[in-house]
Amino acid sequence: MTTLIIQQTCRHLINGEVSAAHNGHWFDKHEPATGNVMAHVASGTAADVDAAVAAARAQFDGGAWAALPGAARARLMHRLADLLEAHSEDFATLLAQEQGRAIMETRMLDVPMSIDTLRYFAGWADKIEGRQIPTAGFMGRPTFNYTVKEAVGVAALIVPWNAPLMIGAWKLGPALATGCTVVIKPSEEAPLALTALAMLSIEAGFPPGVINVVQGTGPEVGRALVTHPGVDKVSFTGSTAVGREIAEKAGPLFKRLTLELGGKAPQIICEDAVLEQAIGGCAMGLFVDQGQTCAAGSRILVHRSLYQSVCGALAGAAQGVQLGAPLAPTTQMGALISARHAERVRGHIQRAVAEGATMLAGEGEVPAGGYFVRPTIFCDVTPSMAIAREEVFGPVGVIIPFDTDEEAIAMANDCQYGLSATVWTQNVNRAHQMASRLRVGAVGINGWSPLDARLPWGGIKQSGVGSDLSRSALDSYMVDKAVTLVM
Ligand code: NAD
Repeated sequence: MTTLIIQQTCRHLINGEVSAAHNGHWFDKHEPATGNVMAHVASGTAADVDAAVAAARAQFDGGAWAALPGAARARLMHRLADLLEAHSEDFATLLAQEQGRAIMETRMLDVPMSIDTLRYFAGWADKIEGRQIPTAGFMGRPTFNYTVKEAVGVAALIVPWNAPLMIGAWKLGPALATGCTVVIKPSEEAPLALTALAMLSIEAGFPPGVINVVQGTGPEVGRALVTHPGVDKVSFTGSTAVGREIAEKAGPLFKRLTLELGGKAPQIICEDAVLEQAIGGCAMGLFVDQGQTCAAGSRILVHRSLYQSVCGALAGAAQGVQLGAPLAPTTQMGALISARHAERVRGHIQRAVAEGATMLAGEGEVPAGGYFVRPTIFCDVTPSMAIAREEVFGPVGVIIPFDTDEEAIAMANDCQYGLSATVWTQNVNRAHQMASRLRVGAVGINGWSPLDARLPWGGIKQSGVGSDLSRSALDSYMVDKAVTLVM
């Protein structure tokens, strides 16, 4: 697709130039489904971060980008979206390979949503308006007051591995639409597709330095970005632990922050749910992306009258999932991102068994060579067990019965996270009452977590601060400046 992929190396993009790391170091990116080395990735350092931030600053502080009106930024963003669309199949393939994920998912979800997100935010670029605000005047003199929405500056975009292209687009879209310049730090576990998108920005005509990419590890490159004096905003998606560290480091420096963190989403199946719809939706919420999504609906809370049926049906759904090579058309689930992560997920499963949960599905053959874990379902789980409280980030779900709506809501809210939830019911009043009482950033009713560029996506509690997507994200890349003319 691009030289980046053809040469099997993944390098930085700094000021429009593709470069190796300053110190010449590389690390290996392994293919999750086989364990084979798939690419060599530049191992960036603080010196590379300095160069990328300098390039982004130069464009923001008076480069060609700073002079572009919103309509021109929109045209560039549309061109980037068009190029992504023209290479859709290449991106779906690359994502499937680097994430170990079934290509049917990357074709259906990640690539189309990335394109749509860029186009949605391109539409905003020439519609950013201030306000005229009347006041009582100043010391007896009338005033004319208006506000201007200005881009916040250089944004550091720190991206996880579980949906790298899509989450990258969620951050790039509002940053570019508002006129920010960016330094992207892809995850060291899945840097290829997002870097390929950034490289297409040169072909799309973006001035060099508007979109920069620095490869490397979190502790080296991520940390250097978060505290860099030239960075005005940090938009981070990743684990709650790293989000907390970023808040601690960037807070005292007064950098603007968006933190999209972990989750442990409840899916509440009420006694009047359409069972077939709920089972299909819950299975999707549990197993999409091998369960490696922040919105994974891993806590199935089910009315006691349906408990046995839901246990049987979800166990059957798990057993029926076809594991295999990401590019095979019949594969429904691929491998987890790394050997270390697969081990972590197996650790959660073993602990659940040790704590007394019953495994209804999960054992069985897995394809050889890669980091596969079979979809796993537990019953006989109490809300206090670790498997019901901690984010597993793998294809593992627990089923817990409830007797009343009150109890379901209390259980759903008894959680350190507050990202998303799903309610399955045919009763419209009950659905909206539950939606209003669930302490989360997004509620799906009769459908698992519909994501759309037009809807805000963000959590409360330990799921984070601020939103990606929608007008809310746009605002988070801007500051309101008030101007007063004393007449
Ligand atoms: P992670 O926190 O390990 O890493 C995320 C990114 O941060 C990577 O690019 C990593 O290199 C970088 N990083 C690591 N340490 C850093 C540091 N000290 N300073 C700055 N950057 C650092 O997360 P992950 O394992 O890549 O992703 C999984 C996590 O992401 C899960 O907890 C999941 O719930 C969360 N997630 C949240 C959302 C959301 O929208 N809320 C979406 C996807 C994933």
